[in-house]
Amino acid sequence: MSTIPLPSTMQAQVLHAFNTPYTLSNIPIPIPTQKDILLRVGAAGFCHTDAVFASGLMSQNLPRIGSHEFAGTVVALGPDVDTSRIQLEMRVGSFGRAYRPCGSCWECRNNGDEEEGYSAFCPKAGNLGLTADGGFEEFVCVDSRQVAPIPEPLSFVDTAPLMCAGYTTYSAFKKCDLPAGARVGVIGCGGGLGHLALQFGVKMGYQLVGIDNQDATLRLARDLNTGAAIYDARATQPEEVLAHIHGGEGKADAERGLDAVLILPESQKAFDYGFQLLRNHGLGVVVSFPAQGFNFSARDMVFRQIQLVGILPGRQSNMREMLRFAAEHGVRAVTKTYPLAKLNDLVEEYHKGLGGKLVVDMAL
Ligand SMILES: [Zn+2]
Ligand SMILES: [Zn+2]
Repeated sequence: MSTIPLPSTMQAQVLHAFNTPYTLSNIPIPIPTQKDILLRVGAAGFCHTDAVFASGLMSQNLPRIGSHEFAGTVVALGPDVDTSRIQLEMRVGSFGRAYRPCGSCWECRNNGDEEEGYSAFCPKAGNLGLTADGGFEEFVCVDSRQVAPIPEPLSFVDTAPLMCAGYTTYSAFKKCDLPAGARVGVIGCGGGLGHLALQFGVKMGYQLVGIDNQDATLRLARDLNTGAAIYDARATQPEEVLAHIHGGEGKADAERGLDAVLILPESQKAFDYGFQLLRNHGLGVVVSFPAQGFNFSARDMVFRQIQLVGILPGRQSNMREMLRFAAEHGVRAVTKTYPLAKLNDLVEEYHKGLGGKLVVDMAL
């Protein structure tokens, strides 16, 4: 193992029981084995999935250190790391998946453009922050294949929220594979994912329509000045949105809907609103996974040929491309930062639902 001098213990925010605060603890620094690397964490974002996990609705792996979107500096390498790709002192961003995939299952062997034996869809892969420890600690062990180099001028605080919220929305646009000028709706456009989706979508050349239903998140989305058309779902019905977009009066017909809609909130109302915006043959994209699921209209699927897809990011090529794109086009999360010791204050702020991204900055 290559390494640079490190202390033997570190501070970490540990979740010991569901629906309780994180506990700031002093614990040993993990030692990277196999293809793992150790990062000195620079910044770590709080994602909706962290809140779902902390409420006990996902795996039962406790105690656990959260955050699956973080950025830091490589400070130690496991013995099997490919040093042509990863070296000490590199600045990298990391997403939660795929931590130690099995390397031999069908997914790992049929992984498209990924490294041989590596797939985010491996059923045995771990997920940092959920089944293994994530970024709310001073040093974190990650799989050397789940990171991407951070391009200048992105800082750690810029990068951390891109690693899940940015990566997910960027991957959603990639999956839609629409021609430039296509019309795309973002339901929940002022949230952590939504406000990044607006920026990525506009910079990718699409016509964006943002929908939200809270004063704070609508303000945040409008203040970005991306050029996207932003609507308040409380005041504007889907047919009014379409009529306005098309410059006409009254009810727009189905052919004049949007080419794709990203449905970000865990809400049936948001899902239905998004489907009503879609044109015939349009694409509905879901990224959230409410316990009760979503109800969809079989008639929309049959008579309007609406397609429904889900997004789990994890393609290495998309991750590297997403960071380069964000650096080049100035895509940045609206962030509010906290020191590691104040993580519970961050969580309290998160539940106010004010939009943007909340990030632990290790420099504070
Ligand atoms: Zn996430
Ligand atoms: Zn596998």
